[in-house]
Amino acid sequence: MNRGRTLIAANWKMHKTSREAKAFFDTWRTFPALDCEIAFLPPFTLLHAVAPLLSGTEVLGGQNLHEAAAGAFTGEISAGMLRDAGCKYVLIGHSERRHVFGEPDERIALKVRAALEGGLRPILCVGETLEQRKNGNTLDIVWGQLAADLGRNPPREGFDIAYEPVWAIGTGKVASHHDAREVHEAVLEYLGKRGGGRDCRILYGGSVKPGNALDLLNSPGIHGLLVGGASLDPGSFHQIAALAKD
Ligand code: PEP
Repeated sequence: MNRGRTLIAANWKMHKTSREAKAFFDTWRTFPALDCEIAFLPPFTLLHAVAPLLSGTEVLGGQNLHEAAAGAFTGEISAGMLRDAGCKYVLIGHSERRHVFGEPDERIALKVRAALEGGLRPILCVGETLEQRKNGNTLDIVWGQLAADLGRNPPREGFDIAYEPVWAIGTGKVASHHDAREVHEAVLEYLGKRGGGRDCRILYGGSVKPGNALDLLNSPGIHGLLVGGASLDPGSFHQIAALAKD
């Protein structure tokens, strides 16, 4: 099975102006080249500013999209627009979209389809809340999200999954590599049984830092990382990405 290169993705969320992005890349370019695929997911306003700053195996992605191709949807952006801005990837169903903006699985499923049809590679985010984990429901929750968001027959290829426990995002609490591995293997089993996601990489996300990234990357079933806070600083993001090997 060919899952391609290890993917390390930087989710900049609602951070950085064009001047700050330029300063990030001025420093980033002073660091050695990396042995993995790096995706930068800046705010929409920075896509055009960041695109010409990328080189080598660095690519661009969006943090969200609307499921329609075009229309009267004030404040939204389509798959075609992201492609036009140079994106390869798009995050879908990030926990902040699910829990802060109330995006239900029905919309997330439409967005996955729109991304695939629009030539983007979705990174579908799934993960349990602390209460769900404490109740021992983690795998049921994740399987439920996969079933709802990918459908009964997941697409054969063309997407990645990010397992991001909600309780680990931006909290400084990271899942142990054993816990992450258990979920990653369950996701692979889920897809494998249904013949879907043949090239799917499973990323871990949630408080990844230079000090915990190696244990996660060394764990079988973890094919990359989705990094939020630690990706805003070029030094810490490079330290994390430098641990990834294809
Ligand atoms: C994220 O929001 O995708 C994320 C992983 O954030 P953080 O690394 O800050 O926990």
